[in-house]
Amino acid sequence: MTLQTLSNLIDGRLVAPVDGLYLDVVEPATGLTFARCPDSGPADVALAAAAAQRAFPAWSHLPATERAGHLNRLADLIERRLEDFAAAESRDSGKPLALARSVDIPRAVSNLRFFAAAITQWSSEAHAMEERALNYTLRQPLGTVACISPWNLPLYLFTWKIAPALATGNCVLAKPSEVTPLTAHMLAEASIEAGFPAGVLNVLQGSGARTGQSLVDEDAVKAVSFTGSTRVGAQIAQSAARRFVKTSLELGGKNATLVFADWEGSDAQLDTIVRSAFSNQGQICLCGSRILVERSRYAEFRDRFVARAAALRVGDPLQDGSDLGAVVSRAHFDKVLGCIALAREEGGTLLTGGGAVKLDGRCAAGWFIAPTVIEGLGPGCRTNQEEIFGPVVTLQPFDDEAEALAVANGTNYGLAATVWTRDLQRAHRVAARLHSGIVWINCWMLRDLRTPFGGVKQSGVGREGGVEALRFFSEAKNVCIALG
Ligand code: NDP
Repeated sequence: MTLQTLSNLIDGRLVAPVDGLYLDVVEPATGLTFARCPDSGPADVALAAAAAQRAFPAWSHLPATERAGHLNRLADLIERRLEDFAAAESRDSGKPLALARSVDIPRAVSNLRFFAAAITQWSSEAHAMEERALNYTLRQPLGTVACISPWNLPLYLFTWKIAPALATGNCVLAKPSEVTPLTAHMLAEASIEAGFPAGVLNVLQGSGARTGQSLVDEDAVKAVSFTGSTRVGAQIAQSAARRFVKTSLELGGKNATLVFADWEGSDAQLDTIVRSAFSNQGQICLCGSRILVERSRYAEFRDRFVARAAALRVGDPLQDGSDLGAVVSRAHFDKVLGCIALAREEGGTLLTGGGAVKLDGRCAAGWFIAPTVIEGLGPGCRTNQEEIFGPVVTLQPFDDEAEALAVANGTNYGLAATVWTRDLQRAHRVAARLHSGIVWINCWMLRDLRTPFGGVKQSGVGREGGVEALRFFSEAKNVCIALG
């Protein structure tokens, strides 16, 4: 089989890495290498940074409507090729094609259009000091910024970062995960067709340790927007602090789903809870991996939930009807299976799943894991404290609201929580008391792109979304004019 060779986008051209180093790109559903992507190093990053510095004066002085025009043209091109992008995303990540087609790629298009519109509507503040003086705030682009994104929602999170960075007038050095480089490469090609000026958007493919670290250490980089693990986020924060570089860190989670006895309990709600546990093989930072259920309805909930989970179809991501595809890599497959083994050692009872799924045909060597539900573990054990990021959830009963909150809040993470109740007062009270950046009540993953997005504790520092992202990618400057 001929391997597809991916390129970097530097200074408006698709180019090979300076040192000639490449990484294998493997299809999770088959375990086969199908492409290779550059493993860019400091020399590639330096070329991209120089191109970005050259492009910055003109790009940052373009009227916002013209920058928006570029983003909209890019969105149009991706939308026109939605099927190609969805097929590439599914092949690269192992996620069901239907999910890439209905969620990942449309959301990437929306990200670009949303920030294209947002920048034309943005305004800054003025502070009058009676008749003595007038202060007004200029929000100016930073210059060259780095955007580093993970493998779970490749194009979705890549565009979530580059769109606001470009809209505010910055030039971008962007790195997708080496595990899922394909759609970022396709976006790079499309950006040339969309007429982006050379150097405004640079895409550097490669590993975190080499390319990612070179980006963070590049002198020209004024801000790093990072989504990924808490471990790498901490490393980036340290490196960035040495150069006083601004960071936005969207990190791991161990999200709680709180089901109170008064929840409506319809099949539709149950389906949403199942989706919140297993969508994208549980590899969404917002997935609820600890499901806490009020004791009086625990047994009923457990039986219905487990039946639903057991009925999910794990299959070839390209086939319609596959609810779950493959997990993203051999290393991640081993990690998730290791977490299930740990849950057993800790005394957990497996209610369904618990291991790899063997498929036939082209997927015989793929990395498939059955949706797994575990009960009987206390809140403090490693299974209930450490991020698994796979199709594995635990069930825990609770006796009252105070206990539910204590368990939900009792981890080092605080990204998202979901609350199921019909009691309006409880809903507001619990939402206010949860230690997390995002709370959904009687829904999950309902996203308005204007809302602040991010976590507390070890789930992150800073917020993305809406004006929060525009603020992050700009510097506020106060101008004070004496009036007297
Ligand atoms: P990683 O932290 O391993 O990697 C994230 C990105 O950072 C990748 O592009 C990676 O490159 C790169 N990277 C790795 N090391 C460095 C480094 N030293 N310097 C700069 N960049 C580096 O996360 P995963 O890709 O494994 O993604 C899964 C994690 O992301 C989970 O913890 C999940 O919770 C979190 N996540 C958080 C979200 C949020 O909004 N809070 C949303 C989605 C995921 P490479 O992969 O090429 O090595």
